[in-house]
Amino acid sequence: SWAGAFDKSVYDWSSEEEECDGRAQPVQVLIVKDDHSFELDEAALSRILLSEETREREVVAISVAGAFRKGKSFLLDFMLRYMYNQDFDDWLGDPEEPLTGFSWRGGSERETTGIQIWSEVFLVDKADGQKVAVLLMDTQGTFDSQSTLRDSATVFALSTMISSMQVYNISQNVQEDDLQHLQLFTEYGRLAMEETFLKPFQSLIFLVRDWSFPYEFPYGHEGGMKFLEKRLKISENQHEELQNVRKHIHSCFTNISCFLMPHPGLKVATNPHFDGRLKEIDKEFINNLKILVPWLLSPQNLDVKEINGNNITCRGLLEYFKAYIKIYQG
Ligand code: GDP
Ligand code: MG
Repeated sequence: SWAGAFDKSVYDWSSEEEECDGRAQPVQVLIVKDDHSFELDEAALSRILLSEETREREVVAISVAGAFRKGKSFLLDFMLRYMYNQDFDDWLGDPEEPLTGFSWRGGSERETTGIQIWSEVFLVDKADGQKVAVLLMDTQGTFDSQSTLRDSATVFALSTMISSMQVYNISQNVQEDDLQHLQLFTEYGRLAMEETFLKPFQSLIFLVRDWSFPYEFPYGHEGGMKFLEKRLKISENQHEELQNVRKHIHSCFTNISCFLMPHPGLKVATNPHFDGRLKEIDKEFINNLKILVPWLLSPQNLDVKEINGNNITCRGLLEYFKAYIKIYQG
């Protein structure tokens, strides 16, 4: 059951299984249960991927992954705004409008470990005239104990395997354990896939939230790339373990980049009554949001999902999803 996974006051539910009013909403497609078993909601996933308009379209799958309470869903809701409003000059919209979509600000309660997908698949025209289907995924892990680390690894691995762009959302800095987690998760994914001479995954973006050293490396992707180059540099005098983590990450992804985001301000971080309206978010954060979101989602930056060098359609993605989850179910 995926009831309770999001805010009932925003999404007026009448039954557990069906959309009650046809409005787009987050759908829990993968759930990690308390006994650490996985469940894929195939029916829900099929409803999203096999609709007549989307099933034969090549798919761009964008995932945001990382630990709880680090602003992933908050960011995804701005990505949704962009997808809905990109034909308008001001896609960010009304400064007084509360932020809705994937549910965020969950208090300190534990949230579900798993994957949610936005029920609406966006059709976007690429410059070459092709219409692609864009899928947004919200992914969560706990990372807080050995047992949940394994759950998180599976969720992260699966979301990396089925996405063309994985946004790795981390707080404040790229720490050595962020890199170790990434190594564990991608190794988990790579082992489950057919061996090929190609790199197994496409784009990885390190998204650093609450970056507080802009005088060393400025906010944005250029500062991010310089910072990441330094963090991922391999040198002879490094401990072998540090070298291996870095080699592994380079060997897994075709593109690796980084974006440094400023802190959104105290209202966002600490006020329980904050409802996401732009008016209460620091200007610096909004300015960078205006760069980050189009950088991730503008039509020319959308890459179709490839597996073993082949472009994948929505229908194909569903089959891969089912096959991959079977591997982890053992
Ligand atoms: P998620 O669990 O990673 O999806 O996190 P949420 O999107 O639910 O956000 C958790 C909390 O962090 C909310 O109270 C947000 O207001 C707040 N938040 C959102 N973005 C940021 C950010 O960039 N920095 C900080 N410090 N807090 C944020
Ligand atoms: Mg969330």
